[in-house]
Amino acid sequence: MSDFLNLSGKTILVAGVANKKSVAWVIAKSLEEAGAQVVYSVRSEARKKSLETLLAGKPVFICDVEEEKAVDRLAEQVRAAGHPVLHGLVHSVAFANYAEGFKSFDQTERKDYLQATAISSFSLVEMARAFKSLLARDASVVTIGISSLLVTPDNYGYMGPIKAALESTSRFLAKSFSAFSEVRFNVVGAGPLKTSASAGIPGYLESYLYAEKLTFRKRALSTAEVANAALFLLSPRSSGMNGTTLVVDAGLGSNAFDAEIVRLTMRPEQKPV
Ligand code: NAD
Repeated sequence: MSDFLNLSGKTILVAGVANKKSVAWVIAKSLEEAGAQVVYSVRSEARKKSLETLLAGKPVFICDVEEEKAVDRLAEQVRAAGHPVLHGLVHSVAFANYAEGFKSFDQTERKDYLQATAISSFSLVEMARAFKSLLARDASVVTIGISSLLVTPDNYGYMGPIKAALESTSRFLAKSFSAFSEVRFNVVGAGPLKTSASAGIPGYLESYLYAEKLTFRKRALSTAEVANAALFLLSPRSSGMNGTTLVVDAGLGSNAFDAEIVRLTMRPEQKPV
């Protein structure tokens, strides 16, 4: 069963490649392996330059979503460059200002919260709106959320509520686009990964290793596993899924009472049996 996902020949815009570890890059690479044409959108000229080798010969556009109207310009440029129809959009963009290190949630500053919301959540609305006339009637839009909106990791801080807004935004877009199309909007709810975005979270390495212990299989989630779920959502094979979140967390969200974790917490002096 070759080309099970039917992505060959499709054109898909991927926003958010920063480097080889980016979720966006792993998605883009898999899409290209599946025969899709990927159109890239990166944050800045400097980023484009740093990606010169990785993205050599591919269509790369620049769009800083913090800038008002930047996404509208991007859509125009993509169209003018000879990509009048897109079968999918990948929104893999987020930013939070952790420059001041760990702060408790109630100390969040308004400017940080609003900036992170504009970049990490509202940009999905702007992308959907700007690309509305380029999207195929049955196109698929995928964004990358987190595996659980119910947990409250201290060091993740205000990005928790902003990811909740992203997930709800995706669902509302699914509803509003249903008035004139069958464009679908879904979220991949990813568990902790090793990327440059996560490296900026204060104390992330410990959180990542802890999350690995919480997986049922005791092996960390890989970015490729998250990318595979994104490819499924981008493909017509997921046509029945809309306005939903596909959780990819290797079970960690259901494993708070794992015997090893309980022992390490309650009896740290006791050796494992
Ligand atoms: P990454 O740093 O590789 O990707 C984040 C991207 O956002 C970068 O390409 C960056 O340039 C882009 N970006 C930031 N500000 C921007 C702006 N103003 N305009 C345009 N682009 C901007 O890290 P990643 O982990 O691949 O992150 C991709 C997505 O995956 C994010 O939404 C992130 O929250 C989500 N995610 C990551 C993890 C993880 O553990 N790494 C877990 C769950 C979800």
